[in-house]
Amino acid sequence: IVDLPYEKILVLGLAKSGTAAAKLLKQSGKKVRVNDLKAKPTDLAVRQLEEMGVEVVTGGHPISVLDDVDLLVKNPGIPYDNVIVAEAEQRELPIITEIELASRLVDGHLIGITGSNGKTTTTTLIYEMLKNSNQQAKIAGNIGNVATEVAQSLEQNESMVIELSSFQLLGVETFRPDIAVLLNLFESHLDYHQSFENYKRAKSNIFKNQTEHDFIVYNADDEQVVDTVQEAPSIKVPFSITKRCIDGAWCNNTSIYFKEEEIILLSDIVLVGKHNLENILAAVCAAKLNGVTTAAIQDVLKTFTGVKHRLQFVDNRNGRLFYNDSKATNILATSKALAAFEHPIILLAGGLDRGNSFDDLIPHLEKVKAMVVFGETAQKLAKTAHQAGIDTVKFVDNVKHAVQKAYELSSEQDIILLSPACASWDQYATFEERGDMFTEAVHTLE
Ligand code: ADP
Repeated sequence: IVDLPYEKILVLGLAKSGTAAAKLLKQSGKKVRVNDLKAKPTDLAVRQLEEMGVEVVTGGHPISVLDDVDLLVKNPGIPYDNVIVAEAEQRELPIITEIELASRLVDGHLIGITGSNGKTTTTTLIYEMLKNSNQQAKIAGNIGNVATEVAQSLEQNESMVIELSSFQLLGVETFRPDIAVLLNLFESHLDYHQSFENYKRAKSNIFKNQTEHDFIVYNADDEQVVDTVQEAPSIKVPFSITKRCIDGAWCNNTSIYFKEEEIILLSDIVLVGKHNLENILAAVCAAKLNGVTTAAIQDVLKTFTGVKHRLQFVDNRNGRLFYNDSKATNILATSKALAAFEHPIILLAGGLDRGNSFDDLIPHLEKVKAMVVFGETAQKLAKTAHQAGIDTVKFVDNVKHAVQKAYELSSEQDIILLSPACASWDQYATFEERGDMFTEAVHTLE
């Protein structure tokens, strides 16, 4: 049962989190109405809610759904210029997201992670480190586990590790993580937040309710982050990949340190990429502050191959290292992946043609010795490869054949990297499906 000083509540947007929020509120004795544009009266979730006594309005956004309501619980994806949200603001109704509800259910330990990039990776790392140290923990948030559901199933003494988007953080009132992590701040999602200042304010909600006993782990290499955390009321714990950070985590050319303690040799870490090193340092801070042992941190870093489809190490076949970076659906992501390696790379790329050129990829192709291209953008990518001076370019039908072709072309110590720089929808339903096909093809190579 959620303790909330509101009685008549409108849940806007069903999806997974809205459905969970509506159920929880109803069970907590509140008067609940749900409004969703796309849901149909015949949908299972709608029928279940109605059976519980929730009023469900589908197929439109009549302003009347706000009548006799004292709180709006908004799906994080719905923008603030939505008619109902705008009207709720006019009426000065409080607007929260499901995260606020979840946090009101949790007495125990909360670790919250936000930033423009790296959230899923860092959240997963922290969770794995806690588990490895025999601490009870559950993971929630963007990752797919609805926060209110996880919060309801939390045992005493169990920590909740929660990934938070800026959209979710905009709608918090009392949410207070014991440990907050702010990874980085890029100018993203400006269409939603309208300005970078608003976006930063949303992110700073992660620490606004913290006290002097809580911790904010932050990226000391990111100016926007440093600027934002200045106002945090909590204990500041920095991490940096460029300088010694005696109050937090840092690294030199050989090792990672937390304060004065050497944690692990860089050469023992499976994850690749400078960006992942940042995520690792952030995770080390959070884990150490939560009492995780150095041995447990080492175990995770020696075995964790990456979150699926995100520059994930798949296998070593006859000295060739295969990486699945199917999530890389644009040039920026692919250039990050390319920067992660020292050895020659065979790049597997291609997919949906959005009409863009791939010229910006050229400076990042230095280590690429061959390219295997597929999908709608195959011709364009082949042209880019030739401009970059890559002689070996092969056309194939799909990712499976790309793996086979790349293997034929490869020598020992080569990196074979799926990092398509394109969305998957010309050939695959999702980037996950594309990455799964890659992984299977690698495991079944003759
Ligand atoms: P998020 O959950 O924030 O989307 P992920 O951990 O899923 O982040 O990583 C998604 C992509 O973002 C990665 O494939 C990589 O290209 C990029 N990325 C990850 N971590 C960082 C970081 N610390 N700094 C910059 N880019 C990153």
